[in-house]
Amino acid sequence: TTFADLGLGQKILDALEAVGYKEPTPIQAGAIPPALAGKDVLGIAQTGTGKTASFTLPLIEKLSKGRAKARMPRSLILSPTRELAAQIAENFDNYAKHTKLTKVLLIGGVAFGPQEEILNRGADVVIATPGRLLDQFERGKVLLNGVQVLVIDEADRMLDMGFIPDIERILKTLPARRQTLFFSATMPPEIQSLVDKFMKDPERVEV
Ligand code: AMP
Repeated sequence: TTFADLGLGQKILDALEAVGYKEPTPIQAGAIPPALAGKDVLGIAQTGTGKTASFTLPLIEKLSKGRAKARMPRSLILSPTRELAAQIAENFDNYAKHTKLTKVLLIGGVAFGPQEEILNRGADVVIATPGRLLDQFERGKVLLNGVQVLVIDEADRMLDMGFIPDIERILKTLPARRQTLFFSATMPPEIQSLVDKFMKDPERVEV
């Protein structure tokens, strides 16, 4: 299988060539086609399997037409830690470099102002930890009713860190008509019930 076989467009293929990826990893081969087809995807994969690209690439493809309005991101990626969120943002920049898509990183420990400026200009993708996202949401700086694609990464770590109530609050503010790409290394019962409650007929991909 090649990345072209998975249905990705030329701009992404060029970006992947530049980063030196020769062929998709198993989680990418399994998750990208259903994600591009608009299905909800439940990916069960550890770090190091290439899972970040398996949700970032279809998201870029799906958003490539259109443009975010001020404070209305079209996609939300939730990550348990600042470090992981920053890594996802770095990957996004590499993969989206031939597109006009913009992102904002909403993590704690840094000033609010610069994040708000990017939100005001219109960021297509928000990459966030739950706490800072809720802070910016409560301050009215980010609206979540335009989110078409939601990604939850490392859901089992979210559980370990006590973020499930925050995740549930965020999920309730999102449009019901959206795509959800959900990744976890393990599937404890609390995570399975989140999946049952907030995903629609997900395609399960396990590596
Ligand atoms: P991840 O599991 O998403 O943290 O990715 C682990 C590492 O694999 C990262 O350094 C990626 O840049 C790299 N990677 C992801 N997909 C591929 C691929 N198809 N070919 C080669 N390296 C990859």
